[in-house]
Amino acid sequence: MKRQRRAVYPGTFDPITNGHLDIIRRASAVFDRVTVAVISNPAKKALLSLPERMALIRRATQGLRGVEVASFSGLLVEFLRTVHGDVIIRGLRAISDFEYEFQMALMNRRLNRHAETVFMMPDERYTYLSSSLVKEVVRFGGQVRGLVPPPVERVLKAKFPKF
Ligand code: ADP
Repeated sequence: MKRQRRAVYPGTFDPITNGHLDIIRRASAVFDRVTVAVISNPAKKALLSLPERMALIRRATQGLRGVEVASFSGLLVEFLRTVHGDVIIRGLRAISDFEYEFQMALMNRRLNRHAETVFMMPDERYTYLSSSLVKEVVRFGGQVRGLVPPPVERVLKAKFPKF
């Protein structure tokens, strides 16, 4: 039997946006299994708790074949080993993402020579989209419909009641 190819898509996902979802869909079309790996880092202050972030990703990816949600702390390459992953997926929106992503990819490969990183580009509609920008817009009462799944919009609105 052919070996299953497993990709790990790591991130903070605070919260998941339609840009992340676009990457997850593309990855699931190429790989047999895609594990969305949510970083659990208590030192990095996230707006949403780890269970909240994971639940929103689960809802948004329901029905996507081969996609699962997990969390990890510590080194990504260790998590990759634990789940017998082949590839790390990262999204590239613009040249500005490149330098940091390039550094991370090479460091991860140094730590585990089998850790290959594959970059995927989202649809142009999402190239300016980031979780932090979405939070900023909702905080000040702006509309984010079409940029995040509806449950994410509801959770964010509840976190930032009208001032
Ligand atoms: P991190 O803190 O690891 O950057 P993020 O949740 O912000 O976590 O992003 C996870 C991954 O998704 C990163 O590779 C990031 O470049 C990518 N990403 C974030 N927003 C988008 C988007 N709008 N389109 C495509 N990729 C994105």
